[in-house]
Amino acid sequence: MSDNVHVIHHPLIQHKLSIMREKDTSTASFRKLLIEIAMLLGYELTRDLPVMWKQIETPLTSMNAPFLEGKKVVVVSVLRAGQGMVEGMLQILPSARVGHIGLYRDHDTLEAVQYYFKLPKNMEDRDVIIVDPMLATGHTAVHAINLVKESNPKSIKFMCLLAAPEGVETLHKAHPDVAIFTASVDSHLNEKAYIVPGLGDAGDRIYGTK
Ligand code: URA
Repeated sequence: MSDNVHVIHHPLIQHKLSIMREKDTSTASFRKLLIEIAMLLGYELTRDLPVMWKQIETPLTSMNAPFLEGKKVVVVSVLRAGQGMVEGMLQILPSARVGHIGLYRDHDTLEAVQYYFKLPKNMEDRDVIIVDPMLATGHTAVHAINLVKESNPKSIKFMCLLAAPEGVETLHKAHPDVAIFTASVDSHLNEKAYIVPGLGDAGDRIYGTK
């Protein structure tokens, strides 16, 4: 596995993920846990954001204090399941800008088909975090990164809840420069391109559509 994959083995994340995997976990719990894990993964992923120093006044004295530097980060949601992770990211980066990419997986070809695309302005000055809970075949992720790269952002990272080894390989073959942050790399994909053991269809479980 490439060193550009960061599997976050934190006990809080792993505990919450195990509850999400269970087939009888309610929609409300699933949604809430996804937000919580997105916050925790996001905390790790943003570890190297640059800071700048500014003189401030506390009630007691003045001090040189660190602040996030540069233009606001862009969180790009791959619709529709990505929305479940955006909420967690916005809890830790409340001023982040949000882009959307509408892609669905054609059930016959398993390829990504685009139906929506909107990013903020001035992407050249921004760091991008693309979020999609399931990195399965990797086709959707590659397509999403291709689109985001056309806007020339400063950097791109990819955050997912679960990854399949096949998806990691496909993504890194196409975009070796994009680091992946995930809670787990599972065993394999089944013949319908579901991650095994996985957690089923993330969109259906977030929105209760099954
Ligand atoms: N998308 C999902 O929602 N689940 C999978 O297991 C694979 C892709």
